[in-house]
Order: sequence, then structure tokens, then C-alpha cells
Amino acid sequence: MKCDRCENIAGYSRKYSGENLCSSCFSSTIIQKAARTISKYNMIRNGDMIGVAVSGGKDSLSLLHVLNKISYTHNFKLKAITVDEGIPGYRDEALTIVNDFCTNLGVEHTVYSYKELFDTTLEQALERRYNEKISSCSICGILRRRAIDFGAKDLGVDVVATGHNLDDVLQTFIINLLSGDTSKIGWMGPDTSGNRTRKIKPFCEIYENEIVFYAFTNDIPFQSEECPHMNEGIRTEIRNFLNSLENDHSGIKNNMYKSIMKISSTLKDANNKQWKVCLQCGNQCTGEICSVCNTLVNLRANQP
Ligand SMILES: [Zn+2]
Ligand SMILES: [Zn+2]
Repeated sequence: MKCDRCENIAGYSRKYSGENLCSSCFSSTIIQKAARTISKYNMIRNGDMIGVAVSGGKDSLSLLHVLNKISYTHNFKLKAITVDEGIPGYRDEALTIVNDFCTNLGVEHTVYSYKELFDTTLEQALERRYNEKISSCSICGILRRRAIDFGAKDLGVDVVATGHNLDDVLQTFIINLLSGDTSKIGWMGPDTSGNRTRKIKPFCEIYENEIVFYAFTNDIPFQSEECPHMNEGIRTEIRNFLNSLENDHSGIKNNMYKSIMKISSTLKDANNKQWKVCLQCGNQCTGEICSVCNTLVNLRANQP
């Protein structure tokens, strides 16, 4: 089968649009799509220093690859931030991959470890879990957010970019929906306001399987080993459920994404007045202390 855009042989069929694309035209559509998302939400401003949170997985390495390409024609610079959770046997492979990848692109790369920042590894933190209902991923996510915030300040970046894709956004929405936390749904839209370090997700309108193909077709050497805690949360079940829906009804994820953005902005306006600033860290939250600081306080209190 021939590519819809050139004379090459097509290697990717985009089911929801009916396009057949060769590897190089496919990659161009991903770069263009990310660039469109960036400009639509005004994610990057002239002269910005962007800290890309790079875990070593396909999403974050592809993001660094794509942003690096876009940076050739735009006025912004990149630095890479990696968080070392201290998960035995898992993180080392990724650190090597990220280091080599950044060296090849000529991007400065800095690692921040839980051990250094919080005086605990993830495994130690999980042992002093104060509430059995909290999943490993949510504790890890909270520590990671704080580590990235620290790295962003330390490196003096204006924006933090993460590799979250459209599927991640849908999964998070359903998790928030199922947990009854509507304030979090109000924060799901692009956060590009305020004086804080902006957080952006340039892949938020791109399907996860397209990022996988982008990484594959561009020979991006992402980490093969999955996080050992990956299947503990409900996220995997939701991911499989959404994939099976998309399989039978192509384009359904795009529709759901649009609905979420509308719901999120409505809730954001409605919740606006309830927003406070965390007394400990200055991030926006609904109570006196944000969930990140709250978790850290509880973990410290449980220290043996
Ligand atoms: Zn082509
Ligand atoms: Zn806080």
C-alpha cells in the first residue's frame, strides 16, 4: 500500500482518520500535532527554558526527540530532568538509556533521587505506608511531582514538559471520576497560567499507540522493563477497557478527550473561588496543605 502523502510504502494505518502513512510522513504528523497542541494552548513562550521530565520510557524520550526537532525552528531551549525513585533493578537501565540519548542530542541531563531529596527510596516509603488504600503509584507520583518541582527550580527552567499522552489523560479522568474527586477534574486542562513553573503536556492530544510507533520507527531506545508496581493500581484495568472500546469504535478516545476538556474548564471556573495556596510549598490546592505536602508529612511521621 502506498503512503497517502508521498511515493513511499505505507507502514502505519491511522484507523480513526483512514490515513495510510509511510514512516517519515507519520513522524511529521506527530511533530506537527505536538506543535499545534503547543501553540493552541500557548504552552511555550519565546525564549523559554524547558525542563523535560525524562523517565526513560517511550513517551518521555519521544517527547524529548520531538521537542528537540521543534526547537530547530523555534526560540526555546531544553534541559532533561530524570527522577531516580530507587526501585531496585528497574531504574538503572533507564538512567543509562536517558544519559546516552541526551548526550546524542546535546541536551544537558540532571538526575534527582528520592534518596537525596526525601532521605527515602520508594521501597522504604512504601514500607511505611500509613494507609493501605494508597497505591504505590500514587505515593510514587506524589514524590515524583515534588522531585520534578525541585529540579525545575534548581535548573531555573520556565516550563516543565511531561510525556503524558491522550490515553493518560483519559485514564486520569476516569480515576478521578471513580474516586469522587471533582476538584482534580477541574485541574485537568492545560495549566499555563500564573507565575509558578508552568506544566505542559505537548502529547496530550496524541494516542499512546502512535507514540509507541513513533519511538519504534525513529529507533528511540526506550526502557523495556516495566515498573514492578505497574499492575497494582486500577489504571491498567481502565487502560485495557479504553483500548477495547477504541478497537471497536475508532476515534472514541478523541471524542472523550474533547468532552473532558469541556467538563474540566467548566469545573475549573466553578471551583476557582475555592483555590488556596499551600502553606508549605505554595502550590495551588483546596485545603491548607496540598496533597503532596500532606503525604510527605505522613510518611515522615511513620518513619521508624
Ligand atoms: Zn509518505
Ligand atoms: Zn504543598
